[in-house]
Amino acid sequence: MMNYTLCPKCGKETEKLYDNVCKDCFFENIRLAELPLVLHAKTCTKCGARFNRGKWVNAGNAEDTVIRNVENALSVHDLAENIEIYVEPRELSPYMYRVRVEVDATVKDEPVHQELNTEVRIVREACDMCSRISGGYFEGIVQIRATNRVPTGDEKKRCIDIANDVVHRMQKKGDRLAFITDSLDLKDGADLYIGSNNSGRHICRAIIVEMGGSFSESPTLFGQKDGKDIYRITFSMRLPEFMSGDFIHFKDKVIQIKSSGKRTIGIDLSTGSRFIATADEMKGATHTASMADAVMTVLVAVEDNAIMVLDPYTYETVTIKKPVSFAAQAGSEIPVIKTEYGLFALSGEHALENLR
Ligand SMILES: [Zn+2]
Ligand SMILES: [Zn+2]
Repeated sequence: MMNYTLCPKCGKETEKLYDNVCKDCFFENIRLAELPLVLHAKTCTKCGARFNRGKWVNAGNAEDTVIRNVENALSVHDLAENIEIYVEPRELSPYMYRVRVEVDATVKDEPVHQELNTEVRIVREACDMCSRISGGYFEGIVQIRATNRVPTGDEKKRCIDIANDVVHRMQKKGDRLAFITDSLDLKDGADLYIGSNNSGRHICRAIIVEMGGSFSESPTLFGQKDGKDIYRITFSMRLPEFMSGDFIHFKDKVIQIKSSGKRTIGIDLSTGSRFIATADEMKGATHTASMADAVMTVLVAVEDNAIMVLDPYTYETVTIKKPVSFAAQAGSEIPVIKTEYGLFALSGEHALENLR
């Protein structure tokens, strides 16, 4: 024999009570989910970022933006369990979506289903990043210079490319303040105005990995905000003094620089041995010639440890040390470099390539 009670609300006989009323009366008052009829999804016209839960984030496509906005605006009843949400956006125009939502869940172990509709309007605005960039905002300056010389146009361009790569990578990881507001080409280098000091540090480190050099930071008081001092940081990036193609005089040796990164690598022209040193270790080195000064001259004779060449300027025959792995035949032309420390034969294909 079943045990029935009467629903206090409608008076029907019922086997089970839900919050003191019958099943029909209980579910009559339950709205499984609610959704506003119109939603506004803010999107940046310039970079495509979207405004989500109080902040700007890098966007996926427009449909993702619509779906996320609907999901954020959807409120599901507290008693619902095992919730499943299905969102189907339909594009009416690029700035207007009609969205159908189906929600399935269980409430007090009973399956409940609800269908809702909303309209999502795309509102175009400038995001935090784009409005800062267009307003000329910056937090720090990266000053690109070189030690005891002026950076070449190629070096400046390469530094700016590296800086752009760094900020793009940081932006992709979600750092929306990693941007370059402005870059100035100056006689003695380049200045980059940057959105965050953190990006300035990353830019300098990336330049050093590829091109060598060092950097230092100096903060200057810029103003106050909410009672706190605001500093702008100047990052002094110094490219190394010597580059590939330079010939330097250092500790009585003439060295041909092959590459300049964290360490400078070169060839000691009098012994043919490899040269490796950090910028600190190279204090006192001086520039003595450039690859542009190298010329071809006639190889007169080859001996065991020496070769005889024509001095390209005096046309006298001079005997100089034979480079390591020297293969040229007497009578042919070889590249040489004349410095105030003497005449040196250049070996290796690298030297020849640079001459042609
Ligand atoms: Zn009832
Ligand atoms: Zn933007």
